[in-house]
Amino acid sequence: MPASYDFIVVGAGSAGCVLANRLSECGKYTVLLVEAGGSDKKLRIRVPIGYGFTYADPSVNWMFHAQPDPGLADRTVYWPRGKVIGGSSSINAMVYCRGLPQDFDDWQAAGAEGWDWASVHPVYERTETKARYSDGKRQLKGDGPLWVTDETHQAHPVSGEFLKAAREAGWPMTVDLNGAKCEGLGIYHNTTRKGWRCSSADAFLRPALKRGNLNLISHATVEALTFEGRRATGIVHRRNGRRQTIKANREVIVCAGAVNSPQLLQLSGLGPHAVLQQAGIETRQDMPEVGGGLQDHLAITYHYDSTVPTLNNQLSPLTGRMAAAMKYLFTRRGMLSLGINQCGGFMRSTPDSPRADMQIYCNPATYSTGDGSSPQLDPEPGFILSFQPCRPTSRGRIDITSSDIDTPPAIKPNSLSTNADCDAVLRGGRLLRQLIETPTMNRLIKRARQADPTTLDDEEMLDDFRQKASTVYHPTSTCRMGRDGKSAVLDARLRVHGIGGLRVVDASAFPTITSGNTNAPTIMLAQRGSDMILEDMRHDG
Ligand SMILES: Cc1cc2nc3c(=O)[nH]c(=O)nc-3n(C[C@H](O)[C@H](O)[C@H](O)COP(=O)(O)OP(=O)(O)OC[C@H]3O[C@@H](n4cnc5c(N)ncnc54)[C@H](O)[C@@H]3O)c2cc1C
Repeated sequence: MPASYDFIVVGAGSAGCVLANRLSECGKYTVLLVEAGGSDKKLRIRVPIGYGFTYADPSVNWMFHAQPDPGLADRTVYWPRGKVIGGSSSINAMVYCRGLPQDFDDWQAAGAEGWDWASVHPVYERTETKARYSDGKRQLKGDGPLWVTDETHQAHPVSGEFLKAAREAGWPMTVDLNGAKCEGLGIYHNTTRKGWRCSSADAFLRPALKRGNLNLISHATVEALTFEGRRATGIVHRRNGRRQTIKANREVIVCAGAVNSPQLLQLSGLGPHAVLQQAGIETRQDMPEVGGGLQDHLAITYHYDSTVPTLNNQLSPLTGRMAAAMKYLFTRRGMLSLGINQCGGFMRSTPDSPRADMQIYCNPATYSTGDGSSPQLDPEPGFILSFQPCRPTSRGRIDITSSDIDTPPAIKPNSLSTNADCDAVLRGGRLLRQLIETPTMNRLIKRARQADPTTLDDEEMLDDFRQKASTVYHPTSTCRMGRDGKSAVLDARLRVHGIGGLRVVDASAFPTITSGNTNAPTIMLAQRGSDMILEDMRHDG
């Protein structure tokens, strides 16, 4: 192992795989990618439906738990995060949502100059290859490394019923939530390629590993960053019980995700002085917002017994699973090649909402999750309806409580701590009620398994949400971009304010959470971040 590299990238997740690819591409720089987890060459990662098994698998998952959350009736909510090559893109539900265009205008307004929609839209375009099927033939658009597949042709028949109900409710329809018409209900597109998961490792890392100037080490935990004065100079990592210091000639790029990036910065002396002092860490630079600014999406799921067969009927019996497995084996199609979140989209909760503010999920299956165990499909036919407020305004924190990297940081989501967020819950419930009360839903619903928005008044709806809502695994903004080191952590080129040679490039850099699922914007951010780093290197010579 060489003692120095031009760039050291910490974390081979959604963002880190992009950085490793892009920085090694021209051949001019040596790049080390360091990942705490191990190989992603596992069927439960590669086969799309397999994320049910990785959801609570400690061999690929950090399996964090948040602190008891007062906004969620003091519940301790399970927070899975990928600990494997590909990071959370190897264990996620594969829904691909760029976010709404105004999300990025919001970023710019928050001080992330140059991250408006007009600037980031071309980055998405060059990142994606869009695949769709027509008359059984695959059609491709674009030639980016990340495959995004339109699964409309093989969505479960019940998804067609959900769309019919939405039309009856007068809701808009869309065929592509990432296209020009990004509002309305439609079939989600997935990060899959020819029936396999297309993680960030598959799209970006695997092709780059052939290069002699890129080195990947797995099962290696970065414990701290090293510094000379106010400049980051490298990392200390631990592998097989051995510690090693490696020097970065140009930059260290932290891509450890929204939970671990602030942890690593704090362990390295960059964070709120009081937090660091309590954990026995010497403060290098007092940065109150490292770990602050945490945002996340919360969703509530309503379970229904169904009058028509759903995925439960197909995948619960052994014979059904065998049939689906054979179909997948021979065609790479069918239920194993998809996620569970098949139908949904972005809606305005009231006609005068200035933009879509609610994400909807209609899943053709019922299952239980949330307590840190693998989800189990129910044997009886059933489906799930769910809503998720798009842009929460509450902000929480993630802070270390110990100087030991192996002690998980304290995750304090601070959910529903603003009136705006509580109001959004009520609007979401009323919106979903419109769908539930359509003739098609009346026909599909045999029985609601719990009180739902058609039976709850406002007070009960909010209380029910506090009792049952859960993270949908989208933490962001814990090292966010912004104007200065007191109100934010990074500048608009993802450099840590006041510190040289150090950037954070992952979901923690979002100034505000985007309206939808966070994998796509994280990958886009890493692509654009790579452009910036390469530009800065050319400028610096
Ligand atoms: C169960 C689940 C379902 C999801 N479903 C979806 C979905 O359907 N669609 C969607 O868009 N988004 C989804 N997401 C969210 C999305 O996957 C994440 O927003 C995205 O992957 C974040 O990327 P990242 O690069 O910030 O972090 P990650 O991809 O989590 O990468 C961080 C990497 O850093 C490594 N690391 C951490 N600390 C260290 C250290 N000290 N030393 C070395 N390595 C370290 C980690 O092991 C990990 O590999 C889901 C997430 C989960 C967990």
